[in-house]
Amino acid sequence: MLYLVEHFYSIQGEGKYIGTPSLFFRFGGCNMRCEGFACEEVASDGTKVIGCDTVYAVNKEYFSHNWISINNSGELLNIINHYELPPNVDIVLTGGEPLIYANEPLFIDFIESLHKKGHKITFETNGSLAVDFEKYQIYKKCIFALSVKLSNSDEPLNKRVRGDIIYSIATNAAEAFFKFSIDTESINLGLQEEIDEIIIHAPKTKVYCMPLGGSKEEVESNTEPLIEFCKAKGYNFSDRLHIRIWDQNKGV
Ligand code: SF4
Repeated sequence: MLYLVEHFYSIQGEGKYIGTPSLFFRFGGCNMRCEGFACEEVASDGTKVIGCDTVYAVNKEYFSHNWISINNSGELLNIINHYELPPNVDIVLTGGEPLIYANEPLFIDFIESLHKKGHKITFETNGSLAVDFEKYQIYKKCIFALSVKLSNSDEPLNKRVRGDIIYSIATNAAEAFFKFSIDTESINLGLQEEIDEIIIHAPKTKVYCMPLGGSKEEVESNTEPLIEFCKAKGYNFSDRLHIRIWDQNKGV
């Protein structure tokens, strides 16, 4: 069994494939909390829950009553038929952390079926959970956007940076790239060392830096300092189009 939070057809809002029409499946649950991102979501009982910009897909205690229980891969595949999609549209599996389900038979079935139908599959992952590429060869056909967390997430270093896992994904997947959410304060505090201790595990992997923020206002305030940082370091700047265009709206 796994939890699906939402599904929607939109454009990819960030990273290497920004702008690409994509069908998103957002799965529920995560192995982290990232309270350092300080985004706030009000639960149905009025509690203000702090976390990342998708805290509603992370915090099981307050939000899982809105999540959909999925018991077989057919339920996920049927969702695709609800949309009028161009052929072979990109599929993005996000969360929360989709790889908490990496060993679930129904999840593997789903990915294999998507691949057989000709879809390009991208995982948006924090890069801290191991993928068994030998047992599940299908993962070698997938793309991994490695959004490894920085200290601004408030997660402990040994939990957020798993060099062995980063290396394994970067060397086994069809394609992988790093994607970091960065705020102005972190740039001013000297971020390079932190990025270095992550990318050293996959030095040939491209780096995309995105402005941190759960709202358009926050994203905009972090954009220009981040562009200067990218120019100085030679990293790729990535916008967060979905937040800039639709602000805090979900399912877009
Ligand atoms: S790892 Fe990602 S989804 Fe999980 S809490 Fe952190 S930012 Fe949110």
